[in-house]
Amino acid sequence: MGIITDFFCRAAALAVVTALNAAPVAASAAATPDRYDVVYGARVKLSVPAASELALRIGRPDTLEQLVSRLLAVAEEFTGQPRGIRSPRVTLMTLGELQRRLCGGPCSVRAAYVPGDGLLIDRDMRPDVNEYHQSILFHELVHHVQDVRGIYSALGSCRRWQRRETDAYALQNRFLAALGARIQVVDAGSPCGSNVSRPAQAFGSSGE
Ligand SMILES: [Zn+2]
Repeated sequence: MGIITDFFCRAAALAVVTALNAAPVAASAAATPDRYDVVYGARVKLSVPAASELALRIGRPDTLEQLVSRLLAVAEEFTGQPRGIRSPRVTLMTLGELQRRLCGGPCSVRAAYVPGDGLLIDRDMRPDVNEYHQSILFHELVHHVQDVRGIYSALGSCRRWQRRETDAYALQNRFLAALGARIQVVDAGSPCGSNVSRPAQAFGSSGE
């Protein structure tokens, strides 16, 4: 099981970032031929895991815009919010550009939601075929829903983003479980109250 840590806590929070510290999950084969084994002389069809209801619902959209739209609908549902939020702008960037912008240099961030700017994504991620990458996109879309709907907006900036982060991780795990992915993400958490203005936890390279 991959354990992924994320970080976030900025006193004046602008960006919500997701780090990738685990190998991506292999894309599930869409059209796996039936496989057989011989058990005590009998030819037995091996069970192939069926695509989950959520995987079928998301499907394999032709464009990133369609994928974002479908994931956003799931994010609205999982957060218990009414439908109707417009998709955020999505900007694909090289990993170098993304990390320079969000961390000022190399770090393990692969995607971020920046209120006002939308989603910034490492253009080498494959949320179309990789369910872990898809869950990262989903996580950032949960932040979009939280931002647009003003979830926890009564709290101070750091507490608000702590709560949003905790929820986003929980929903990302629910999303992964619903996909049938054997991977979980872990919210490393970060304290408030010390004028933290930088990521509270350092990461090694993503290993990809
Ligand atoms: Zn997050």
